[in-house]
Amino acid sequence: MTFKELGITDSILKALADEGYTTPTPIQEQSIPILLDGKDLLGSAQTGTGKTAAFAIPILQRLYLDRPQHRGIRKIRALVVTPTRELAIQIAESFSTYGKYTGLTNTVIFGGVKQEAQTQALRRGVDVLIATPGRLLDLIEQGYITLKDIEYFVLDEADRMLDMGFIHDIRKLIAKLPHERQSLFFSATMAPTIVELSQKILGNPEKVVV
Ligand code: AMP
Repeated sequence: MTFKELGITDSILKALADEGYTTPTPIQEQSIPILLDGKDLLGSAQTGTGKTAAFAIPILQRLYLDRPQHRGIRKIRALVVTPTRELAIQIAESFSTYGKYTGLTNTVIFGGVKQEAQTQALRRGVDVLIATPGRLLDLIEQGYITLKDIEYFVLDEADRMLDMGFIHDIRKLIAKLPHERQSLFFSATMAPTIVELSQKILGNPEKVVV
């Protein structure tokens, strides 16, 4: 199987070729068709499996193929929530790498640093936002971010998120998302509390286990 056979568009294929990616990993092979089809996904996968590309590539493709022809300020159309600053930065780099020929933009926000550089980047407008939960809620409450235009929502490393005590933040965020959206939920483990949370976020998801 190749990325082309999975239906990936030329401008993203070119970026993948630049990276030397020749073959999709198992999670990519399973997830990409589901996500290009617009379905929700429950993924049981660890970091190191190619999970980031498994969601970043199809989200970039859907945003790119459905991009506005005449745009004013960009609206945040995709949101990825992840537990740590390090993961957030890595995910943002992946979106930049795979999306480098699409013209789509992203930015990353996380706590523990001053917010000014982050709010400035937001003011310029981005298509994709990658965030840790606390700073995200903080900037929403201050009016710097609205989630009303979100079409794609990814909750990454849900089990770690709960271990780190983010459950209340996650519940608050979910309540602010538009009802009509495509949602993706990833967790390395599937304890009952994780499954319960996934059911609050996903509607009739396809399941992928690697
Ligand atoms: P992740 O599981 O998303 O943290 O990805 C693990 C590593 O695999 C990252 O360094 C990616 O750049 C790399 N990677 C992801 N997909 C592929 C692929 N299809 N071919 C080669 N390397 C890949």
